[in-house]
Amino acid sequence: MSDNAADLDRRFVWHPFTQMKDWLGRQPIVIRAGKGATLTDTKGREYLDANSSIWTNLHGHAHPKMNRALQQQLRKIAHSSALGLANEPASLLAKKLIDAAVLPERTRASPARSSGLRKVFFSDDGSTAMEVALKLAYEFARRVRRTPRPKFLSLQGAYHGDTVGAVSLGHIDLFHQSYRPLLFKTDATPAPYCYRCPHNRAAPERRDAREYRKCDWECLDTLERKFTTQKKRGNPYAAFVFEPLMQGAAGMIAQPPGWLRRATEIGRRHGAQLIADEVMTGFGRAGSQVRNESTASSSQRVDASSPSLFATHREGVQPDFMALAKGLTGGYLPMAATLTTQEVFDAFLGEYEEFKTFFHGHSYTGNQLGAAAGVASMELLGSEPSIAARRRLEEWLRTELQSLWSLPNVGDIRQVGLMAGIELVRNWKTKEAYDLKERSGIRVCDAMAKRGVLTRPIGNVIVIMPPYCTTEAQLKKMIQVLHRAIDETLAQVA
Ligand code: PMP
Repeated sequence: MSDNAADLDRRFVWHPFTQMKDWLGRQPIVIRAGKGATLTDTKGREYLDANSSIWTNLHGHAHPKMNRALQQQLRKIAHSSALGLANEPASLLAKKLIDAAVLPERTRASPARSSGLRKVFFSDDGSTAMEVALKLAYEFARRVRRTPRPKFLSLQGAYHGDTVGAVSLGHIDLFHQSYRPLLFKTDATPAPYCYRCPHNRAAPERRDAREYRKCDWECLDTLERKFTTQKKRGNPYAAFVFEPLMQGAAGMIAQPPGWLRRATEIGRRHGAQLIADEVMTGFGRAGSQVRNESTASSSQRVDASSPSLFATHREGVQPDFMALAKGLTGGYLPMAATLTTQEVFDAFLGEYEEFKTFFHGHSYTGNQLGAAAGVASMELLGSEPSIAARRRLEEWLRTELQSLWSLPNVGDIRQVGLMAGIELVRNWKTKEAYDLKERSGIRVCDAMAKRGVLTRPIGNVIVIMPPYCTTEAQLKKMIQVLHRAIDETLAQVA
């Protein structure tokens, strides 16, 4: 049967974000099994899962504790509706999420107007988690703030999912442009893309551009201006939407320390709700390192013994909405959650006949299997061995990535915790970018796959995002293979 899977796939399956003409012209890798950081295909070949199966997997494949939790839940029930019914694992998961997502008052960078995150709305994936945040923030602005036409501000290059609302928040022309007539209008503000920022006056160096940038935070001046202008129009922004610390699909754009705190302070000052998309960054991905901006007070620093699971907390930021998906179930099942405040919840309370109900929901909302996986994953994340493993992996990644600076086709290396983006360029001294049509990123990833390491590029940026169980030898292999792949694919055309 498995030999057939490739043929059946080519005949019947349409793959996401894939030019199917290219796909049909090649033999697909058909995955049959996974264990830890390793995937095995139907031909028995092994691969390292260097992007954690599109940023979802946390503890490794076929993790015994995760498997056991799912098997135990399966003996009881797989799914019953959340429309009119509660269930055990979803209730427990909601409590665990709130406990983890609330930033203690003393560690907040600026006094939050909100009471903190108190309520969890479950859905299915990152896009729906963002869609929920968007609709709740919209109604909250209309009902409570009396904003006539609530408008949203997000970051240049933003990607928040593929449903129409989430696409409206997005600013990647390649993906979003053709759908513009279908979408509602949102505004974009510059992302702190230090490597290619027009305000960065520094010549390129062989280190992360955030470390040698020369600027006066002009991106934040623009942000301030956007808020002021919109207020003058009599329709202040309802919400500021952002990925904290690292914008993934935008090209692994890492924010310099202090940027998020400053940007969210501007948003708060102008009365906007803060929507943090932690779909990629959540559940420990942002790592445990203390941010070393000189202005960060010690109270804002990370508790080294039990680091927060969320990127916003690294900068002392407590958002009004937090969208979670991908790692929520440890990478086992599609499930998402939108966390929000008591104030937002209260805006939807009323007598039945007032029809203030949040008329939104999905058939699989609060699914028991997903929630059981989520509970097991949260328990693993809080365990000493997992915390120690994440800390070690983050350091190994930092060390191993250094070797890539010797390659003339590597322009920037951006690491945040357990995520890294390596930007490929024609020549590091000029930062000249490859034309997308050259498929440099795709060719490098193809060369990596031949050597047993799987990941996907974002344009000319290679993503490395290992599962937390990755060993030092496996991580070394991921980076060595990437090194060779860049060398053999791009060196001759440099
Ligand atoms: N937000 C972010 C930051 C993402 O990275 C993604 C997916 N890459 C999404 C939202 C959408 O998530 P999903 O693909 O699960 O709908």
